Amino acid sequence: MSEHGNRTARRRWRAVATAATATALVAVPLTLATTAANAAEAHVDNPYAGAKQYVNPTWAETVESAATRAGDPTLAGQMRTVAQQPTAVWMDRISAITGNADGKGLKFHLDEALKQKSGSQPLVFNLVIYNLPGRDCFALASNGELPPTAAGLTRYQTEYIDPIVDLLGDPKYQDLRISATIEPDSLPNLITNISEPACQASAPYYREGVKYALDELKTLPNVYTYLDAAHSGWLGWDSNSGPTAKLFAEVAKSTKKGFASVDGFVTNTANSTPLAEPFLPNPNLQVGSAQVRSAKFYEWNPDFGEHAWTAQLHRLLVAEGFPASTGMLIDTSRNGWGGPNRPTKVSTSTNVDTYVDESRIDRRNHRGAWCNPLGAGIGELPRATPAGAPAESHLDAYVWIKPPGESDGASKEIPNDQGKSFDRMCDPTFVSPKLSNQLTGATPDAPLAGQWFEAQFRTLVKNAYPATPTPTVTPTPTPTVTPTPTPTPTSNPGAVCTVKYTASSWNSGFTASVKVTNNGTSALSGWTLGFSFANGQTVQQGWSATWAQSGSAVTATNAAWNGALAPGASVDIGFNGSHSGTNTAPTSFTLNGTTCQVG
Ligand code: BGC
Repeated sequence: MSEHGNRTARRRWRAVATAATATALVAVPLTLATTAANAAEAHVDNPYAGAKQYVNPTWAETVESAATRAGDPTLAGQMRTVAQQPTAVWMDRISAITGNADGKGLKFHLDEALKQKSGSQPLVFNLVIYNLPGRDCFALASNGELPPTAAGLTRYQTEYIDPIVDLLGDPKYQDLRISATIEPDSLPNLITNISEPACQASAPYYREGVKYALDELKTLPNVYTYLDAAHSGWLGWDSNSGPTAKLFAEVAKSTKKGFASVDGFVTNTANSTPLAEPFLPNPNLQVGSAQVRSAKFYEWNPDFGEHAWTAQLHRLLVAEGFPASTGMLIDTSRNGWGGPNRPTKVSTSTNVDTYVDESRIDRRNHRGAWCNPLGAGIGELPRATPAGAPAESHLDAYVWIKPPGESDGASKEIPNDQGKSFDRMCDPTFVSPKLSNQLTGATPDAPLAGQWFEAQFRTLVKNAYPATPTPTVTPTPTPTVTPTPTPTPTSNPGAVCTVKYTASSWNSGFTASVKVTNNGTSALSGWTLGFSFANGQTVQQGWSATWAQSGSAVTATNAAWNGALAPGASVDIGFNGSHSGTNTAPTSFTLNGTTCQVG
Protein backbone atom coordinates (compact mmCIF):
# COMPACT_ATOMS: atom_id res chain seq x y z
CA MET A 1 0.00 0.00 0.00
CA SER A 2 1.29 3.43 -0.88
CA GLU A 3 0.73 4.64 2.64
CA HIS A 4 3.10 2.03 3.92
CA GLY A 5 5.60 2.95 1.21
CA ASN A 6 5.50 6.58 2.30
CA ARG A 7 6.05 5.58 5.83
CA THR A 8 9.12 3.54 5.11
CA ALA A 9 10.50 6.37 2.99
CA ARG A 10 9.96 8.91 5.77
CA ARG A 11 11.52 6.67 8.37
CA ARG A 12 14.52 6.13 6.11
CA TRP A 13 14.76 9.89 5.62
CA ARG A 14 14.81 10.44 9.33
CA ALA A 15 17.41 7.78 9.96
CA VAL A 16 19.67 9.20 7.24
CA ALA A 17 19.18 12.75 8.46
CA THR A 18 20.17 11.72 11.95
CA ALA A 19 23.25 9.97 10.66
CA ALA A 20 24.06 13.04 8.58
CA THR A 21 23.92 15.21 11.68
CA ALA A 22 26.34 12.98 13.46
CA THR A 23 28.86 12.46 10.65
CA ALA A 24 30.76 14.69 8.25
CA LEU A 25 28.45 16.62 5.95
CA VAL A 26 30.74 16.57 2.88
CA ALA A 27 29.45 13.32 1.49
CA VAL A 28 25.82 14.18 2.11
CA PRO A 29 23.65 15.31 -0.81
CA LEU A 30 22.62 18.95 -0.75
CA THR A 31 19.07 18.41 0.45
CA LEU A 32 20.17 16.35 3.39
CA ALA A 33 22.99 18.74 4.22
CA THR A 34 20.44 21.54 4.36
CA THR A 35 18.27 19.50 6.66
CA ALA A 36 21.20 18.66 8.83
CA ALA A 37 22.10 22.32 9.14
CA ASN A 38 18.53 22.98 10.34
CA ALA A 39 18.44 19.80 12.39
CA ALA A 40 15.59 19.42 14.83
CA GLU A 41 16.36 20.23 18.44
CA ALA A 42 17.43 17.46 20.73
CA HIS A 43 14.81 15.78 22.89
CA VAL A 44 14.51 17.86 26.07
CA ASP A 45 13.55 16.88 29.60
CA ASN A 46 10.43 19.06 29.89
CA PRO A 47 8.97 19.92 26.48
CA TYR A 48 6.64 22.53 28.01
CA ALA A 49 9.40 24.62 29.59
CA GLY A 50 9.80 27.85 27.65
CA ALA A 51 7.30 26.70 25.02
CA LYS A 52 3.92 27.88 23.77
CA GLN A 53 1.17 25.31 23.27
CA TYR A 54 -1.08 24.83 20.24
CA VAL A 55 -4.50 26.48 20.34
CA ASN A 56 -7.00 24.40 18.35
CA PRO A 57 -8.65 26.95 16.01
CA THR A 58 -11.74 24.80 15.44
CA TRP A 59 -12.47 24.48 19.14
CA ALA A 60 -11.60 28.17 19.69
CA GLU A 61 -14.12 29.14 17.00
CA THR A 62 -16.85 27.14 18.75
CA VAL A 63 -16.00 28.84 22.05
CA GLU A 64 -15.94 32.23 20.34
CA SER A 65 -19.38 31.49 18.91
CA ALA A 66 -20.64 30.57 22.42
CA ALA A 67 -19.29 33.93 23.63
CA THR A 68 -21.57 35.75 21.16
CA ARG A 69 -24.53 34.10 22.94
CA ALA A 70 -23.25 34.50 26.51
CA GLY A 71 -25.79 37.23 27.25
CA ASP A 72 -23.59 38.71 29.96
CA PRO A 73 -20.50 40.70 28.93
CA THR A 74 -18.31 39.39 31.77
CA LEU A 75 -19.14 35.79 30.90
CA ALA A 76 -18.56 36.55 27.21
CA GLY A 77 -15.14 38.03 28.04
CA GLN A 78 -14.23 35.00 30.16
CA MET A 79 -15.25 32.70 27.31
CA ARG A 80 -12.99 34.69 24.99
CA THR A 81 -10.06 34.12 27.35
CA VAL A 82 -10.89 30.42 27.38
CA ALA A 83 -10.92 30.44 23.55
CA GLN A 84 -7.26 31.49 23.58
CA GLN A 85 -6.16 28.51 25.67
CA PRO A 86 -4.36 25.47 24.27
CA THR A 87 -6.33 22.22 24.23
CA ALA A 88 -5.44 18.76 22.97
CA VAL A 89 -6.40 17.33 19.60
CA TRP A 90 -8.02 13.92 20.04
CA MET A 91 -7.51 11.14 17.53
CA ASP A 92 -10.63 9.36 18.76
CA ARG A 93 -11.13 7.07 15.75
CA ILE A 94 -9.46 6.23 12.49
CA SER A 95 -11.42 8.87 10.58
CA ALA A 96 -10.12 11.59 12.92
CA ILE A 97 -6.75 11.26 11.17
CA THR A 98 -8.19 12.66 7.97
CA GLY A 99 -10.93 14.60 9.78
CA ASN A 100 -14.25 13.74 11.43
CA ALA A 101 -17.40 15.81 10.79
CA ASP A 102 -15.51 19.08 10.29
CA GLY A 103 -13.08 17.53 7.80
CA LYS A 104 -10.12 18.89 9.76
CA GLY A 105 -7.67 16.11 10.41
CA LEU A 106 -4.25 15.75 11.94
CA LYS A 107 -2.47 17.34 8.97
CA PHE A 108 -4.69 20.43 9.20
CA HIS A 109 -3.84 20.82 12.89
CA LEU A 110 -0.11 20.23 12.43
CA ASP A 111 -0.02 22.81 9.63
CA GLU A 112 -1.91 25.27 11.83
CA ALA A 113 0.58 24.54 14.61
CA LEU A 114 3.44 25.49 12.28
CA LYS A 115 1.66 28.81 11.67
CA GLN A 116 1.33 29.39 15.42
CA LYS A 117 5.01 28.75 16.04
CA SER A 118 6.69 32.11 16.12
CA GLY A 119 10.43 32.37 15.67
CA SER A 120 12.57 30.09 17.74
CA GLN A 121 10.12 29.65 20.64
CA PRO A 122 9.23 25.97 20.80
CA LEU A 123 5.60 24.93 20.37
CA VAL A 124 4.02 21.92 22.07
CA PHE A 125 1.23 20.16 20.20
CA ASN A 126 -0.95 18.14 22.59
CA LEU A 127 -2.23 15.03 20.86
CA VAL A 128 -4.39 12.27 22.33
CA ILE A 129 -3.99 8.69 21.16
CA TYR A 130 -7.37 7.10 21.95
CA ASN A 131 -8.58 4.14 19.93
CA LEU A 132 -7.47 0.89 21.57
CA PRO A 133 -9.32 -2.32 20.72
CA GLY A 134 -12.12 -2.74 23.29
CA ARG A 135 -11.83 0.91 24.35
CA ASP A 136 -13.45 2.10 27.60
CA CYS A 137 -13.98 -1.46 28.89
CA PHE A 138 -15.54 -0.44 32.22
CA ALA A 139 -17.93 2.15 30.79
CA LEU A 140 -20.03 2.57 27.69
CA ALA A 141 -20.02 6.25 26.72
CA SER A 142 -16.69 6.14 24.92
CA ASN A 143 -16.69 2.59 23.62
CA GLY A 144 -14.78 2.62 20.36
CA GLU A 145 -14.78 1.28 16.86
CA LEU A 146 -12.25 -1.56 17.28
CA PRO A 147 -13.17 -4.89 18.90
CA PRO A 148 -10.84 -6.56 21.43
CA THR A 149 -9.61 -9.16 18.96
CA ALA A 150 -6.40 -9.89 17.07
CA ALA A 151 -8.00 -8.31 13.99
CA GLY A 152 -8.88 -5.22 16.03
CA LEU A 153 -5.27 -4.92 17.15
CA THR A 154 -4.01 -5.23 13.58
CA ARG A 155 -6.33 -2.42 12.52
CA TYR A 156 -5.14 -0.32 15.48
CA GLN A 157 -1.56 -0.82 14.38
CA THR A 158 -1.86 -0.45 10.62
CA GLU A 159 -4.85 1.86 10.15
CA TYR A 160 -4.42 4.04 13.21
CA ILE A 161 -0.95 4.23 14.80
CA ASP A 162 1.03 3.81 11.56
CA PRO A 163 -0.71 6.61 9.62
CA ILE A 164 -0.46 8.93 12.66
CA VAL A 165 3.26 8.26 13.00
CA ASP A 166 3.67 8.72 9.23
CA LEU A 167 2.12 12.14 9.41
CA LEU A 168 4.06 13.18 12.49
CA GLY A 169 7.24 11.95 10.81
CA ASP A 170 6.96 14.40 7.94
CA PRO A 171 10.21 16.38 8.21
CA LYS A 172 8.33 19.67 8.06
CA TYR A 173 6.97 18.97 11.55
CA GLN A 174 10.34 18.10 13.09
CA ASP A 175 10.45 21.34 15.09
CA LEU A 176 7.09 20.86 16.76
CA ARG A 177 7.20 19.20 20.14
CA ILE A 178 4.48 16.58 19.95
CA SER A 179 3.19 15.63 23.41
CA ALA A 180 1.15 12.45 23.13
CA THR A 181 -1.30 11.53 25.89
CA ILE A 182 -1.54 7.79 25.48
CA GLU A 183 -4.80 5.93 25.81
CA PRO A 184 -6.80 7.46 28.67
CA ASP A 185 -8.22 4.98 31.19
CA SER A 186 -6.79 1.88 29.50
CA LEU A 187 -4.04 0.54 31.80
CA PRO A 188 -5.78 1.91 34.94
CA ASN A 189 -8.82 -0.20 34.04
CA LEU A 190 -6.61 -3.29 34.20
CA ILE A 191 -5.77 -2.45 37.82
CA THR A 192 -9.24 -1.91 39.25
CA ASN A 193 -11.71 -3.43 36.80
CA ILE A 194 -10.14 -6.67 35.68
CA SER A 195 -13.03 -8.66 37.15
CA GLU A 196 -15.24 -7.13 34.41
CA PRO A 197 -15.42 -9.55 31.43
CA ALA A 198 -15.05 -6.68 28.92
CA CYS A 199 -11.82 -5.58 30.63
CA GLN A 200 -10.53 -9.16 30.70
CA ALA A 201 -11.15 -9.41 26.97
CA SER A 202 -9.40 -6.09 26.35
CA ALA A 203 -6.41 -6.57 28.66
CA PRO A 204 -3.96 -8.22 26.22
CA TYR A 205 -4.81 -5.69 23.50
CA TYR A 206 -4.38 -2.74 25.84
CA ARG A 207 -0.89 -3.93 26.78
CA GLU A 208 0.08 -4.81 23.22
CA GLY A 209 -1.51 -1.67 21.73
CA VAL A 210 0.18 0.69 24.19
CA LYS A 211 3.51 -1.05 23.60
CA TYR A 212 3.08 -0.65 19.83
CA ALA A 213 2.10 3.01 20.15
CA LEU A 214 5.17 3.71 22.30
CA ASP A 215 7.51 1.81 19.98
CA GLU A 216 6.29 3.63 16.89
CA LEU A 217 5.93 7.11 18.38
CA LYS A 218 9.39 6.82 19.85
CA THR A 219 10.95 6.48 16.40
CA LEU A 220 10.47 10.27 16.23
CA PRO A 221 12.76 12.33 18.47
CA ASN A 222 10.32 15.25 18.69
CA VAL A 223 7.54 13.10 20.18
CA TYR A 224 7.07 13.09 23.97
CA THR A 225 5.00 10.27 25.40
CA TYR A 226 2.79 10.59 28.49
CA LEU A 227 0.90 7.50 29.63
CA ASP A 228 -2.51 8.12 31.15
CA ALA A 229 -2.46 7.50 34.91
CA ALA A 230 -6.14 8.04 35.85
CA HIS A 231 -6.57 10.27 38.93
CA SER A 232 -6.24 10.26 42.71
CA GLY A 233 -9.86 9.23 43.32
CA TRP A 234 -9.30 6.13 41.20
CA LEU A 235 -5.81 4.87 42.01
CA GLY A 236 -4.71 6.69 45.19
CA TRP A 237 -5.17 3.78 47.64
CA ASP A 238 -1.93 1.87 48.33
CA SER A 239 -3.60 -1.31 47.10
CA ASN A 240 -4.06 0.33 43.68
CA SER A 241 -1.05 2.63 43.39
CA GLY A 242 1.61 -0.05 43.93
CA PRO A 243 0.21 -2.43 41.27
CA THR A 244 -0.26 0.56 38.91
CA ALA A 245 3.43 1.50 39.05
CA LYS A 246 4.33 -2.17 38.49
CA LEU A 247 2.05 -2.43 35.45
CA PHE A 248 3.49 0.75 33.95
CA ALA A 249 6.99 -0.64 34.47
CA GLU A 250 6.04 -3.97 32.84
CA VAL A 251 4.63 -2.22 29.78
CA ALA A 252 7.62 0.14 29.52
CA LYS A 253 10.03 -2.78 29.81
CA SER A 254 8.19 -4.62 27.03
CA THR A 255 9.00 -1.81 24.54
CA LYS A 256 12.06 -1.55 22.34
CA LYS A 257 13.46 1.40 24.29
CA GLY A 258 12.36 0.26 27.74
CA PHE A 259 11.92 3.03 30.29
CA ALA A 260 13.20 5.55 27.72
CA SER A 261 10.01 5.04 25.70
CA VAL A 262 8.00 6.91 28.35
CA ASP A 263 8.65 10.60 29.02
CA GLY A 264 6.02 10.87 31.69
CA PHE A 265 2.47 10.40 32.90
CA VAL A 266 -0.68 12.47 32.68
CA THR A 267 -3.33 12.41 35.37
CA ASN A 268 -6.94 13.58 35.64
CA THR A 269 -7.56 13.36 31.88
CA ALA A 270 -11.17 14.45 31.31
CA ASN A 271 -11.84 14.21 35.04
CA SER A 272 -12.70 16.87 37.58
CA THR A 273 -10.64 15.84 40.59
CA PRO A 274 -9.13 18.97 42.17
CA LEU A 275 -5.40 19.60 42.52
CA ALA A 276 -5.80 19.62 46.31
CA GLU A 277 -8.43 20.29 48.95
CA PRO A 278 -7.53 23.66 50.47
CA PHE A 279 -9.63 23.07 53.61
CA LEU A 280 -8.56 19.45 54.02
CA PRO A 281 -4.77 19.66 53.83
CA ASN A 282 -4.10 16.71 56.14
CA PRO A 283 -5.78 13.37 55.35
CA ASN A 284 -4.68 11.99 58.72
CA LEU A 285 -6.22 14.77 60.81
CA GLN A 286 -8.43 13.45 63.64
CA VAL A 287 -11.97 14.80 63.67
CA GLY A 288 -13.97 13.47 66.59
CA SER A 289 -12.73 9.92 66.84
CA ALA A 290 -11.90 9.42 63.16
CA GLN A 291 -9.29 10.40 60.59
CA VAL A 292 -10.43 12.66 57.76
CA ARG A 293 -9.45 10.06 55.16
CA SER A 294 -11.86 7.56 56.73
CA ALA A 295 -14.87 9.74 55.76
CA LYS A 296 -17.34 8.18 53.33
CA PHE A 297 -16.25 10.54 50.54
CA TYR A 298 -12.60 9.39 50.71
CA GLU A 299 -13.09 5.75 51.76
CA TRP A 300 -9.59 5.78 53.35
CA ASN A 301 -7.91 6.98 50.13
CA PRO A 302 -4.98 9.14 51.32
CA ASP A 303 -4.80 11.18 48.08
CA PHE A 304 -7.39 13.97 48.09
CA GLY A 305 -6.15 15.53 44.86
CA GLU A 306 -3.79 15.38 41.93
CA HIS A 307 -0.81 17.01 43.62
CA ALA A 308 -0.78 14.16 46.13
CA TRP A 309 -1.37 11.53 43.45
CA THR A 310 1.39 12.70 41.08
CA ALA A 311 3.83 12.85 44.00
CA GLN A 312 2.94 9.36 45.19
CA LEU A 313 3.02 7.92 41.69
CA HIS A 314 6.39 9.48 40.89
CA ARG A 315 7.91 7.98 44.01
CA LEU A 316 6.54 4.51 43.16
CA LEU A 317 7.60 4.73 39.50
CA VAL A 318 11.17 5.59 40.41
CA ALA A 319 11.20 2.63 42.80
CA GLU A 320 10.14 0.43 39.85
CA GLY A 321 13.05 1.67 37.72
CA PHE A 322 11.70 4.73 35.88
CA PRO A 323 14.21 7.60 35.76
CA ALA A 324 13.84 10.47 38.25
CA SER A 325 13.43 12.77 35.22
CA THR A 326 9.99 11.24 34.52
CA GLY A 327 7.62 14.21 34.28
CA MET A 328 3.97 14.59 35.25
CA LEU A 329 1.12 16.46 33.60
CA ILE A 330 -2.26 17.23 35.17
CA ASP A 331 -5.36 17.95 33.12
CA THR A 332 -6.83 21.03 34.82
CA SER A 333 -9.44 21.80 32.17
CA ARG A 334 -12.41 21.03 34.42
CA ASN A 335 -11.22 20.69 38.02
CA GLY A 336 -11.74 24.23 39.29
CA TRP A 337 -14.84 23.86 41.51
CA GLY A 338 -15.59 27.58 41.96
CA GLY A 339 -19.07 29.03 41.88
CA PRO A 340 -21.72 29.47 44.55
CA ASN A 341 -21.33 26.05 46.18
CA ARG A 342 -17.61 26.30 46.87
CA PRO A 343 -16.96 26.30 50.63
CA THR A 344 -15.06 29.31 51.94
CA LYS A 345 -13.88 27.88 55.23
CA VAL A 346 -13.22 24.67 57.05
CA SER A 347 -16.18 23.00 58.77
CA THR A 348 -16.50 23.08 62.56
CA SER A 349 -18.45 19.82 62.74
CA THR A 350 -17.12 17.00 64.92
CA ASN A 351 -18.73 14.38 62.71
CA VAL A 352 -16.10 13.33 60.18
CA ASP A 353 -18.52 12.93 57.27
CA THR A 354 -20.16 16.31 57.87
CA TYR A 355 -16.71 17.84 58.37
CA VAL A 356 -15.52 16.52 55.00
CA ASP A 357 -18.76 17.30 53.16
CA GLU A 358 -18.80 20.89 54.41
CA SER A 359 -15.11 21.48 53.73
CA ARG A 360 -14.44 19.85 50.38
CA ILE A 361 -14.41 21.89 47.16
CA ASP A 362 -15.08 18.76 45.06
CA ARG A 363 -18.90 18.92 45.15
CA ARG A 364 -19.61 15.56 43.50
CA ASN A 365 -21.69 12.97 45.33
CA HIS A 366 -18.88 10.50 44.86
CA ARG A 367 -15.35 10.65 43.44
CA GLY A 368 -16.28 8.02 40.84
CA ALA A 369 -18.80 10.37 39.16
CA TRP A 370 -17.01 11.04 35.88
CA CYS A 371 -19.72 12.04 33.43
CA ASN A 372 -20.39 15.77 32.84
CA PRO A 373 -20.39 16.53 36.59
CA LEU A 374 -22.83 19.33 37.28
CA GLY A 375 -21.19 22.24 39.08
CA ALA A 376 -17.59 21.63 37.99
CA GLY A 377 -15.61 24.62 36.76
CA ILE A 378 -12.56 25.27 34.64
CA GLY A 379 -9.34 24.91 36.62
CA GLU A 380 -5.86 26.39 36.36
CA LEU A 381 -4.86 27.76 32.97
CA PRO A 382 -2.37 25.59 31.07
CA ARG A 383 1.22 26.41 31.95
CA ALA A 384 4.65 24.84 32.39
CA THR A 385 6.28 23.97 35.73
CA PRO A 386 3.47 25.59 37.74
CA ALA A 387 4.55 27.58 40.75
CA GLY A 388 3.00 26.43 44.01
CA ALA A 389 2.84 22.75 43.05
CA PRO A 390 4.82 20.44 45.36
CA ALA A 391 8.33 19.69 44.06
CA GLU A 392 7.77 15.98 44.67
CA SER A 393 4.96 16.00 42.07
CA HIS A 394 7.61 16.59 39.35
CA LEU A 395 5.14 18.49 37.21
CA ASP A 396 6.08 19.33 33.65
CA ALA A 397 2.86 21.32 33.20
CA TYR A 398 -0.83 21.85 33.78
CA VAL A 399 -2.51 21.05 30.47
CA TRP A 400 -6.03 21.03 29.07
CA ILE A 401 -6.41 17.60 27.55
CA LYS A 402 -10.22 17.50 27.60
CA PRO A 403 -11.42 20.53 25.65
CA PRO A 404 -13.90 22.28 27.99
CA GLY A 405 -17.41 22.14 26.51
CA GLU A 406 -17.06 18.70 24.93
CA SER A 407 -19.41 16.14 26.42
CA ASP A 408 -18.28 13.03 28.32
CA GLY A 409 -21.28 11.03 27.18
CA ALA A 410 -24.94 11.26 26.22
CA SER A 411 -27.60 11.35 28.89
CA LYS A 412 -29.89 9.22 26.70
CA GLU A 413 -29.43 6.56 24.06
CA ILE A 414 -28.25 8.27 20.85
CA PRO A 415 -27.62 6.13 17.76
CA ASN A 416 -24.21 6.73 16.23
CA ASP A 417 -21.56 5.14 14.03
CA GLN A 418 -18.62 5.54 16.45
CA GLY A 419 -19.27 2.53 18.69
CA LYS A 420 -20.37 4.78 21.56
CA SER A 421 -23.10 3.45 23.84
CA PHE A 422 -25.40 4.86 26.49
CA ASP A 423 -23.81 4.86 29.94
CA ARG A 424 -26.27 5.56 32.72
CA MET A 425 -23.48 7.31 34.60
CA CYS A 426 -24.33 10.19 32.23
CA ASP A 427 -28.04 10.08 33.12
CA PRO A 428 -28.83 12.54 35.93
CA THR A 429 -31.89 10.51 37.01
CA PHE A 430 -29.86 7.36 37.64
CA VAL A 431 -28.93 6.09 41.10
CA SER A 432 -25.69 4.23 40.45
CA PRO A 433 -24.41 1.23 42.40
CA LYS A 434 -20.92 2.35 41.32
CA LEU A 435 -21.47 5.55 43.34
CA SER A 436 -22.62 3.92 46.60
CA ASN A 437 -26.19 4.10 45.32
CA GLN A 438 -26.30 7.83 44.81
CA LEU A 439 -27.46 9.96 41.89
CA THR A 440 -24.85 10.46 39.19
CA GLY A 441 -24.89 14.25 39.37
CA ALA A 442 -24.47 14.39 35.57
CA THR A 443 -25.55 17.50 33.64
CA PRO A 444 -28.89 16.81 31.86
CA ASP A 445 -29.49 16.80 28.09
CA ALA A 446 -25.93 15.90 27.16
CA PRO A 447 -25.00 14.97 23.59
CA LEU A 448 -22.65 12.13 22.62
CA ALA A 449 -19.13 12.00 24.08
CA GLY A 450 -16.93 14.51 22.30
CA GLN A 451 -19.77 16.70 20.99
CA TRP A 452 -20.17 20.34 21.89
CA PHE A 453 -22.32 20.78 25.00
CA GLU A 454 -22.92 24.46 25.44
CA ALA A 455 -25.03 24.30 28.61
CA GLN A 456 -22.16 22.49 30.33
CA PHE A 457 -19.62 24.90 28.90
CA ARG A 458 -21.46 27.87 30.37
CA THR A 459 -21.37 26.32 33.85
CA LEU A 460 -17.71 25.40 33.48
CA VAL A 461 -16.82 29.02 32.73
CA LYS A 462 -19.10 30.46 35.42
CA ASN A 463 -17.62 28.09 38.01
CA ALA A 464 -14.00 28.51 36.95
CA TYR A 465 -11.54 28.62 39.84
CA PRO A 466 -9.43 30.66 39.74
CA ALA A 467 -12.02 32.86 38.01
CA THR A 468 -11.10 33.21 34.34
CA PRO A 469 -9.91 36.74 33.61
CA THR A 470 -11.59 38.75 30.85
CA PRO A 471 -9.18 39.63 28.05
CA THR A 472 -7.43 42.96 28.35
CA VAL A 473 -8.47 44.92 25.27
CA THR A 474 -6.71 48.06 24.15
CA PRO A 475 -9.52 50.48 23.29
CA THR A 476 -9.47 51.41 19.62
CA PRO A 477 -9.86 55.16 18.98
CA THR A 478 -13.26 56.18 17.59
CA PRO A 479 -12.91 56.69 13.84
CA THR A 480 -13.69 60.18 12.56
CA VAL A 481 -14.67 59.07 9.04
CA THR A 482 -18.22 59.74 7.87
CA PRO A 483 -20.11 56.47 7.97
CA THR A 484 -21.01 55.07 4.58
CA PRO A 485 -24.75 54.51 4.24
CA THR A 486 -25.84 50.88 4.57
CA PRO A 487 -26.29 49.58 1.03
CA THR A 488 -29.75 48.37 0.12
CA PRO A 489 -29.54 44.65 -0.53
CA THR A 490 -30.03 43.90 -4.18
CA SER A 491 -30.61 40.19 -4.02
CA ASN A 492 -32.52 37.93 -1.68
CA PRO A 493 -34.07 40.90 0.15
CA GLY A 494 -35.97 38.75 2.66
CA ALA A 495 -32.92 36.82 3.81
CA VAL A 496 -31.76 37.79 7.30
CA CYS A 497 -30.15 34.48 7.99
CA THR A 498 -27.82 31.86 6.63
CA VAL A 499 -28.13 28.18 7.43
CA LYS A 500 -25.36 25.66 6.93
CA TYR A 501 -26.56 22.08 7.22
CA THR A 502 -24.08 19.21 7.26
CA ALA A 503 -24.91 15.57 7.84
CA SER A 504 -22.92 12.39 8.15
CA SER A 505 -24.92 9.22 7.56
CA TRP A 506 -24.53 5.56 8.21
CA ASN A 507 -26.86 2.60 7.51
CA SER A 508 -30.16 4.04 8.67
CA GLY A 509 -28.96 6.81 10.94
CA PHE A 510 -27.32 10.19 10.63
CA THR A 511 -26.03 13.12 12.64
CA ALA A 512 -26.75 16.62 11.37
CA SER A 513 -25.03 19.84 12.43
CA VAL A 514 -26.86 23.04 11.68
CA LYS A 515 -25.23 26.47 11.92
CA VAL A 516 -27.70 29.35 11.92
CA THR A 517 -26.35 32.89 11.44
CA ASN A 518 -28.30 36.11 11.99
CA ASN A 519 -27.42 38.26 8.98
CA GLY A 520 -29.95 40.94 9.84
CA THR A 521 -29.20 44.29 11.43
CA SER A 522 -31.28 43.69 14.55
CA ALA A 523 -30.62 41.31 17.39
CA LEU A 524 -33.01 38.41 17.89
CA SER A 525 -34.19 37.59 21.38
CA GLY A 526 -35.61 34.24 20.36
CA TRP A 527 -35.72 32.20 17.20
CA THR A 528 -37.37 29.25 15.49
CA LEU A 529 -35.75 27.53 12.57
CA GLY A 530 -38.00 25.70 10.14
CA PHE A 531 -37.24 23.24 7.35
CA SER A 532 -38.69 20.19 5.64
CA PHE A 533 -37.09 16.83 5.15
CA ALA A 534 -36.87 15.90 1.51
CA ASN A 535 -37.00 12.16 1.87
CA GLY A 536 -38.96 10.91 4.90
CA GLN A 537 -36.21 11.40 7.51
CA THR A 538 -37.05 11.74 11.20
CA VAL A 539 -35.40 13.60 14.06
CA GLN A 540 -34.56 11.18 16.88
CA GLN A 541 -32.77 13.38 19.36
CA GLY A 542 -31.75 17.00 19.05
CA TRP A 543 -29.52 19.28 21.10
CA SER A 544 -29.07 22.98 21.80
CA ALA A 545 -32.71 23.65 20.76
CA THR A 546 -36.21 22.24 21.28
CA TRP A 547 -36.86 20.06 18.27
CA ALA A 548 -40.30 19.10 16.92
CA GLN A 549 -41.48 17.34 13.80
CA SER A 550 -44.86 17.07 12.14
CA GLY A 551 -44.90 15.06 8.92
CA SER A 552 -41.85 16.24 7.02
CA ALA A 553 -41.84 19.71 8.68
CA VAL A 554 -39.24 20.25 11.40
CA THR A 555 -38.86 23.14 13.81
CA ALA A 556 -36.05 23.94 16.22
CA THR A 557 -36.70 26.64 18.80
CA ASN A 558 -33.90 28.20 20.84
CA ALA A 559 -32.95 26.74 24.22
CA ALA A 560 -33.15 28.97 27.32
CA TRP A 561 -29.50 30.00 26.97
CA ASN A 562 -29.09 30.62 23.24
CA GLY A 563 -32.14 32.70 22.25
CA ALA A 564 -30.16 35.95 22.00
CA LEU A 565 -28.63 36.17 18.53
CA ALA A 566 -26.83 39.45 17.84
CA PRO A 567 -26.36 40.63 14.24
CA GLY A 568 -23.58 38.53 12.74
CA ALA A 569 -23.78 35.91 15.52
CA SER A 570 -24.29 32.20 14.89
CA VAL A 571 -25.66 29.31 16.85
CA ASP A 572 -24.71 25.66 16.36
CA ILE A 573 -27.46 23.14 16.89
CA GLY A 574 -27.84 19.55 15.79
CA PHE A 575 -29.67 16.28 15.99
CA ASN A 576 -29.45 12.59 15.36
CA GLY A 577 -31.95 11.30 12.85
CA SER A 578 -32.96 8.18 11.00
CA HIS A 579 -33.58 7.64 7.32
CA SER A 580 -34.59 4.76 5.08
CA GLY A 581 -34.06 6.26 1.63
CA THR A 582 -31.22 8.48 0.44
CA ASN A 583 -30.45 11.04 3.12
CA THR A 584 -31.05 14.12 0.95
CA ALA A 585 -30.42 17.40 2.82
CA PRO A 586 -33.26 19.94 3.16
CA THR A 587 -32.96 22.69 0.58
CA SER A 588 -34.88 25.54 2.17
CA PHE A 589 -34.86 27.00 5.70
CA THR A 590 -36.74 29.76 7.51
CA LEU A 591 -35.82 31.70 10.63
CA ASN A 592 -38.77 33.25 12.45
CA GLY A 593 -40.72 32.75 9.24
CA THR A 594 -38.25 34.46 6.87
CA THR A 595 -36.44 32.42 4.23
CA CYS A 596 -32.70 32.04 4.81
CA GLN A 597 -29.79 31.71 2.45
CA VAL A 598 -28.30 28.24 2.38
CA GLY A 599 -24.64 28.54 3.33
C1 BGC B 1 -14.79 11.03 23.46
C2 BGC B 1 -14.01 11.43 22.24
C3 BGC B 1 -13.66 12.90 22.28
C4 BGC B 1 -12.99 13.25 23.59
C5 BGC B 1 -12.70 14.72 23.72
C6 BGC B 1 -14.06 11.44 24.71
O1 BGC B 1 -14.85 11.20 25.81
O2 BGC B 1 -15.03 9.66 23.45
O3 BGC B 1 -14.79 11.16 21.09
O4 BGC B 1 -12.82 13.23 21.20
O5 BGC B 1 -13.78 12.84 24.67
O6 BGC B 1 -13.85 15.46 23.88
